[in-house]
Amino acid sequence: MNNRKQTRCIIGSETVRMLNLGHPWVIADRFTKSWPQLECGDLIELKSEKGASMGTALCDPGSRIVARRLSEKVVELNQNWLTAKLQRAQDSRNWLDFGDTTVARLVNAEGDGLPGLTVDRYGDFLMVQYFTLVWQRYLSTLAVALQEVYNPLGIYCKYRPQETRKLAAGKNVRPPQSRLLAGKAAPADLTVRENGLLYRIDLSKDLHTGLFHDQRQNRLEFRRQAAGCRVLNLFSYTGAFSVAAAAGGAEQVTSVDAAGRYLDWACENFRLNEIPPEGHEFITGDCFVELDRLAKSRRFFDLVFIDPPSFSTTRKSRFTTTGGTAELVQKVLRLMPPKALLVTSSNLQRMSLEDYVKELRKGSLAAGRELQIINVSGQADDFPYTVSFPEGKYLKYVVSVVQDKD
Ligand code: SAH
Repeated sequence: MNNRKQTRCIIGSETVRMLNLGHPWVIADRFTKSWPQLECGDLIELKSEKGASMGTALCDPGSRIVARRLSEKVVELNQNWLTAKLQRAQDSRNWLDFGDTTVARLVNAEGDGLPGLTVDRYGDFLMVQYFTLVWQRYLSTLAVALQEVYNPLGIYCKYRPQETRKLAAGKNVRPPQSRLLAGKAAPADLTVRENGLLYRIDLSKDLHTGLFHDQRQNRLEFRRQAAGCRVLNLFSYTGAFSVAAAAGGAEQVTSVDAAGRYLDWACENFRLNEIPPEGHEFITGDCFVELDRLAKSRRFFDLVFIDPPSFSTTRKSRFTTTGGTAELVQKVLRLMPPKALLVTSSNLQRMSLEDYVKELRKGSLAAGRELQIINVSGQADDFPYTVSFPEGKYLKYVVSVVQDKD
């Protein structure tokens, strides 16, 4: 297809340095300002000031990340190239052990050499997400390549612009719409298995699909830890961790979320796994308010999971990871006896693990307790990141034993 000659675009020495370090982004600067007029998704050949070819990039005029390099060589973005990339991503996953699981990340954007693009498998269906419109004109070619490598029943796609964040913060932004790109539509009762547990998935309507499967391995560990525990799952969403805890033999699981419809979905997930939801507790409410209420009624929990969105606004509270995490930890520690286990998680990419632990410290100091970290982990192994793109490591999952001070 597209055999047009690629427009040559000069980049400055700082961009050359970053590209030589393997980082695929071209950040807008005085050099990119003088590039010729280009359209979103055009392929360009990057050239150093001295005229050396730096490979092919996908251009996103007007954006801060004005281009993303696809290859050190000059390449065409055609079906063959895409198929090779998909196969490479598939090969690297041969090392992984998914257990009894039918959900997986097949392509993890920069981590698999396809910047700004992810592909997830949900049973027989695929979901393509693109975080920049540069991919739009290549979607149908990508669909053909995906059919060739994975032969799914249907392929959905969804544009995930930055506004998703504003949306999560309650701003009036239209949620990203997913559409069927190829093949058949998924049934309304589509379910996937993750380590033998069933979860209902919605590929077409919701902002998210119902399962954050980047927590696959963490959820398995949580399930093991939950045996015999009174478990509290804050910001529970569709109850994936609650189901895991109940399946692991938790005495009782309390799930709290501001959205009642997600708790209905959580109940449905319990039933799918033949765990009667009646034996557990589902509280629709703001976590900050509910934590005070639980403290007042002198409730105690042996295992608590806190995994809030990076930002959120409800009628009752405004949450940001910085500050909000410390406050949640302070509040929840009132409900936790010594030796209880506190698990906290954040997917805020731009907060380092070091800063995140500082948040935990702030909360524990305010509560007059000590947190003894016994494990730190991140996203599941099918969400790889490269050494050249450390930003790709975004998930923080910290497991701490609650201790009293002397
Ligand atoms: N921990 C979940 C994912 C959480 S998604 C999992 O692993 O599956 C974030 C959830 O937080 C959403 O379901 C949203 O409804 C909820 N939420 C956001 N702000 C809230 C608040 N202040 N109180 C309670 N729930 C909140």
